Amino acid sequence: MTERLYLSDPYLTSFRARVVEMRELDGKPAAVLDKSAFYPEGGGQPGDRGRLGGAQVIDTQERQGEVLHLVDKPVSGEVEAEIDWVRRFDHMQQHHGQHLLSAAFDKLEAPTVSFHLGERTCTIDLDAPLGKLDLRAAEAMANDSIWRDLPVIARDFTGEERAKLPLRKEPVKGDRVVLVEGVDASPCGGTHPRRTGEVGCIAILKAQRWGEGKARIEFACGNRVVRLLREANETVQQAADALKAAPADLAQAAARVAKDAYDRRKALEAAQADLAKLEAAQLMTKPGPVVAKVERGAAFARAIAQAISSQGRIALIASIEDGRAHLCFARPKGEGAAMGALLKEALAVLGGKGGGNPDFAQGSGDPGRLDEALALAARKI
Ligand SMILES: [Zn+2]
Repeated sequence: MTERLYLSDPYLTSFRARVVEMRELDGKPAAVLDKSAFYPEGGGQPGDRGRLGGAQVIDTQERQGEVLHLVDKPVSGEVEAEIDWVRRFDHMQQHHGQHLLSAAFDKLEAPTVSFHLGERTCTIDLDAPLGKLDLRAAEAMANDSIWRDLPVIARDFTGEERAKLPLRKEPVKGDRVVLVEGVDASPCGGTHPRRTGEVGCIAILKAQRWGEGKARIEFACGNRVVRLLREANETVQQAADALKAAPADLAQAAARVAKDAYDRRKALEAAQADLAKLEAAQLMTKPGPVVAKVERGAAFARAIAQAISSQGRIALIASIEDGRAHLCFARPKGEGAAMGALLKEALAVLGGKGGGNPDFAQGSGDPGRLDEALALAARKI
């Protein structure tokens, strides 16, 4: 069995080890070492990456109690190993931050049921309804635990000593407990910093309902908070630049632009409706059903078809938009041929798709045989 060096020293970044065996996992070569500081994925924390001799370690997994180092090429003999420390330390900040946040929520009667450490952010799922959570209180409590810079003890606890610990959850395996005196005691096999202060800070980013009576909390710790704040600032600046506003005035500027856009759209729709009525009147100078191709696209064709049918006449209107032929068939309510069936036949000619009811139907297809399709429909009215 591999000796797990990260348990006694989570700060160990390089070591020498002997390759005991090469195996295969998911079609990739996987090295088993006599000892290793690589953390295998578990307890919500991803497996470590790094270097093993001349090979890259792309992931570390655990199978049947054995630590498997997934490598890009096979290795053998004595090897120098190095862990991707930037990535690992980030995981230590997130994972320990999670313990402190879960401990805080626990005190607010919201126990944690699961934890996921993602590429950008982390989540915990809480067994408590979203409406009952005081997010800011939990965040403040967790940050207070960080800024008091308390010692973190991570070791095996057994017997009487263990019985005295107020464990936050049941152990999954082993005797290891991560303890912050007066704050949290949680069974855990993950890697943790020496003191809570190394987490830096914790920020709750989002909370949402997650199934019946549960909530999912998205958060980030340490350097991720700095990175996310930088990204958010850049986004705010870009949006402010686009709206020609100061970042502080962004919300007002965005609301103003949205209102302007809404007002303009309404004005345009009204103008288009008037124009459609005019065009409909021109098309209705001759008696009988109106069969026509119009400019300005599908929405305009629809407005014309509706204007004509409301005047008591059948309308078969087509328009070409974005290289597609759009058909709008309308009849006065309850009178004349069924538009849905008629459209189906016309669309069969165009190889298109659409639908509707006996009073109104619309669809689109290939414009190549549009005249033929309209003529066919016109004959069947
Ligand atoms: Zn843990």
